[in-house]
Amino acid sequence: MTVESGSHFANRSENAPHAKSSRLPGFYELAISQRREIIEDLAGFDGKQFEKFGDFSTLSSELVNVFIENGIGTMPMPLGVATNFHINGKDVLVPMAVEETSVLAAASHGAKLARMGGGFQTSSTLPIGTGQIQLYPHHDMDFDSILEAHKQELINLAHDGQQRLLARGGGVRDMRWRYIQEIKSLVIYIDVDTRDAMGANLINTICEKLSQRVEEIIPCEMGLRILTNLCDKRIAKARCRVPKDAFKNNDFTGSEVVDRIVKAYQFAAHDAYRAATHNKGVMNGIDPVVIATGNDWRAVEAGAHAYACRSGVYSPMTVWSKDENGDLIGEIEMPMALGTVGGVTTLHPTAQASLRLMGSPNAQQLGEIVVAVGLAQNLSALRALASEGIQRGHMSLHQGNIRLANQRAQH
Ligand code: NAD
Repeated sequence: MTVESGSHFANRSENAPHAKSSRLPGFYELAISQRREIIEDLAGFDGKQFEKFGDFSTLSSELVNVFIENGIGTMPMPLGVATNFHINGKDVLVPMAVEETSVLAAASHGAKLARMGGGFQTSSTLPIGTGQIQLYPHHDMDFDSILEAHKQELINLAHDGQQRLLARGGGVRDMRWRYIQEIKSLVIYIDVDTRDAMGANLINTICEKLSQRVEEIIPCEMGLRILTNLCDKRIAKARCRVPKDAFKNNDFTGSEVVDRIVKAYQFAAHDAYRAATHNKGVMNGIDPVVIATGNDWRAVEAGAHAYACRSGVYSPMTVWSKDENGDLIGEIEMPMALGTVGGVTTLHPTAQASLRLMGSPNAQQLGEIVVAVGLAQNLSALRALASEGIQRGHMSLHQGNIRLANQRAQH
């Protein structure tokens, strides 16, 4: 391994941290090759073992160093293409990055079933994210009158310096507030149309800027200033219909399977333990597309689960019912804060290729594709659960992993 000249690392033996200590002052300032040497030493790895931390073929060391701090490698993950998706009258090939066996097969199967009823119909709201400015006012005041009087001034201030966002049609759409008596705190909500960006940094910047003026208007101790991941003004929806005959199998008639799927949904709607697993199945479809496009899946997960609690009870993210013909109807709606620019989406080569594969959607269109995949994934899982059980299909695909793990254990 090469040691870069002129770095701290030239006399590493003096500076080397104690073996097994995780205290690594200055680690972040080192070159990736130097960090790798330190970790290799600490972990007692030989060069061959260290190679398992992934090479930099697609995601170069330069990008790793820009994307994260303390980078030492990459974490490769299988990337596949889900087939059969027909969304709003068009076919879409969907890239999915995931480690779990059977996810791609299930998504493709769910899409095939939905295709028999015309595919997915999707829609979405404008890409509006929300920021929060929290403050502890020094005195009781008429907050409604004060903030109403200053609302336009604050919106103008938020727009100051955001000419490019405004030119793209984005910007602040509304400002609301509420007082939380229990913590004596006023919270201002700022709704921002972030266009094709996920918008977290954009919204946080606006919140911090506005907080300075808010402090002048309302004498206070300033609290937190950050976006909320419960972005319930940024919703993507998908719907599908599956003809009952598509479900006919050796054990059940199509109508019986439809009834059993609807009952499986009702179980999730009345039992949080079942709802958690139902929703994990939905996110099995959603996360891999979010990851393949370089988006922030923690943000999507946080929003999805918080939205699933909007009634006060943790509930399924999809709804399954039967129409007048006895066909199955599936619906999903959830917050979908995605970007096709910004974050790492623009720089990550695989994210770029994934977006191109889907026909370069904008952020709203991407969100609609993603929820359609979540609905397909859930459909496939419920169909199996409601008929032969989930293990037959899953384990037949997972056999390859088990066989390989056993072979390796024997060597
Ligand atoms: P960003 O900071 O990269 O900003 C987006 C940029 O894209 C802006 O500079 C904008 O000018 C530009 N842009 C170009 N074309 C655009 C278009 N058509 N529409 C909109 N903007 C366009 O990214 P961001 O979206 O503000 O923030 C996303 C990042 O923030 C993610 O990496 C996320 O992980 C991270 N983050 C998330 C949280 C959270 O979810 N709680 C908190 C902090 C940061």
